Amino acid sequence: MTVNCRTGPGRYCAKCCYNTEMPLTRDDIERIERLGYPREYFVQEDSEGIPRLRNVNGHCVFLDADTGRCRIYPYRPIGCRLYPLVYVPGEGVTIDPFCPMAHKIPKHVIERYKKYVIKIVREIYGGLDDL
Ligand code: SF4
Ligand code: SF4
Repeated sequence: MTVNCRTGPGRYCAKCCYNTEMPLTRDDIERIERLGYPREYFVQEDSEGIPRLRNVNGHCVFLDADTGRCRIYPYRPIGCRLYPLVYVPGEGVTIDPFCPMAHKIPKHVIERYKKYVIKIVREIYGGLDDL
């Protein structure tokens, strides 16, 4: 996505990196493991066995909380790349109003990236009726 997350020189919003529940695809996990991070360092499975980014001190394990930078930015999970586009059961693919830049995202961008959200949601959660 083309969201400007910068809040100042070398500083980033990072609001979405706190108490993250970002699910991970198999490709995400393998790509991050290849950087040398063991799976248990960054993966936390939820009660349904869905792998998600692990939080430490209330934020994603990869967040530099001082600057708001993502320590694996070029390798970050696909869900982080697509955010603030999210899938909401019953609503489908939509923009998360929690993101301060949500209002800046035009409809045509949502349409362009929608298919990628659907692809990862299908991979992670299996078939969903309203997709
Ligand atoms: S909440 Fe929105 S503006 Fe803030 S870091 Fe996440 S995507 Fe960027
Ligand atoms: S991987 Fe990076 S962009 Fe994604 S939640 Fe963690 S710090 Fe934020």
